[in-house]
Amino acid sequence: MIPSEIIKQKRNGKEISFQQIKEFINGYLKEEIPDYQMSALLMAIFFNGMTDSEISTLVEVMLNSGEKMDFSHHSNFVADKHSTGGVGDKVSIILGPLMAAAGISIPMLSGRSLGHTGGTLDKLETIPGFKVDINLRDFRKQVDAIGIAMIGQTKEICPADRRMYALRDVTGTVESVPLICGSIMSKKIAEGIQGLVLDVKTGNGAFMKNIDEAHHLGNMLQNIGKSFNINTDVVYTSMDQPLGNLAGLWCEVQESINGLKGDGPDDTMQVTYELGAKLLLQAGISKTHSEAVALQKELISNGKAYKKFVEMVEYQGGKHQDIEKYKRLHQPDNHITIKSDKAGIIQSIDTYRIGLVTIELGCGRKKTTDKVDPTAGIKFYKKIGDPVKKGDTIMKLFNSDGEKLSSAENMTKNTVIIGNEKVEHKLILD
Ligand code: URA
Repeated sequence: MIPSEIIKQKRNGKEISFQQIKEFINGYLKEEIPDYQMSALLMAIFFNGMTDSEISTLVEVMLNSGEKMDFSHHSNFVADKHSTGGVGDKVSIILGPLMAAAGISIPMLSGRSLGHTGGTLDKLETIPGFKVDINLRDFRKQVDAIGIAMIGQTKEICPADRRMYALRDVTGTVESVPLICGSIMSKKIAEGIQGLVLDVKTGNGAFMKNIDEAHHLGNMLQNIGKSFNINTDVVYTSMDQPLGNLAGLWCEVQESINGLKGDGPDDTMQVTYELGAKLLLQAGISKTHSEAVALQKELISNGKAYKKFVEMVEYQGGKHQDIEKYKRLHQPDNHITIKSDKAGIIQSIDTYRIGLVTIELGCGRKKTTDKVDPTAGIKFYKKIGDPVKKGDTIMKLFNSDGEKLSSAENMTKNTVIIGNEKVEHKLILD
């Protein structure tokens, strides 16, 4: 195999074969193919797409790059949730423990920040001591013991996605249906799950900018899930504004803990309950949507979901004492407020740009070796449709690096549009 010939074939819009995809990805994992050639192939796929048969091959090869879990010994329904990526999207951190408290086993493989969107792993890693790279034996043991573990792709499981994901993050090759399908579905199939709910984000802060693109991606993901006998539901939700009141790293863990304690923002909890209802219905634990939502609210109000979260944190190296003092951990050194320059109603929020502001603050990476700043994030005081007066605080940016803070501040210009029209924002789209 000559790697540059495969790159050229894809660059020229031709199909690449099962053997070529397999040799290229396996060669990359064996370090025979360098990052620059993989980046070139990713970019060629980004521009020219892949046929359905190439996408199936990509999923299969990425899946088979590592081990596949088997939870067939579990009496519980084994399932998971995945989002296609958003800003302020901390739903996995709430939903995972909530579903485990309801009796569904959740062997969750998540990702780091990707492009302008935040990553569950980066957020979880801000919990002091929390490990997201435990070995598969411990992962399996933890799921057996407490019904949930949340880790990332490792050398043992989905190593192809581990490396390709990190490369896509910094090479402008994220918003590609075939690459998203390969990345998400290789992880989900490797978990050995029976059920899956996918949150396909749509809007200016999502990879899919409109509902047609989102449906295309959602249908592809669902078909792949079904072909691996995974009961797969898709929920389409808006990413035309950040989810919740906070976007960043530790601050999103704080907001998730609030959610688990019954004090989460309405939008975040609405998405959580919608996705959770799909899994509870799949598992046969609830008979109707309203019963499923009521059960989730009960597991939050009786403290069982929060307790499950703390149990998971302790299993993965964190301490319950840190979670108890969660409001005081990771205090940022600096903050700056962004104020409204006129009165009116919030018309729109450039959520993509807000995502870029979070990277600038230190929540994401500009190159693969960058370190993130756990204290960094944004608090949103106003959302679409809210009235504002001149001088009202719209956002607060915070981190522990003054230079990055001021360049992030410059990037917020024109991200929030104020006008006079009454506007409504629909959260659950389909
Ligand atoms: N989530 C993933 O795991 N991969 C993607 O490519 C996008 C979202």
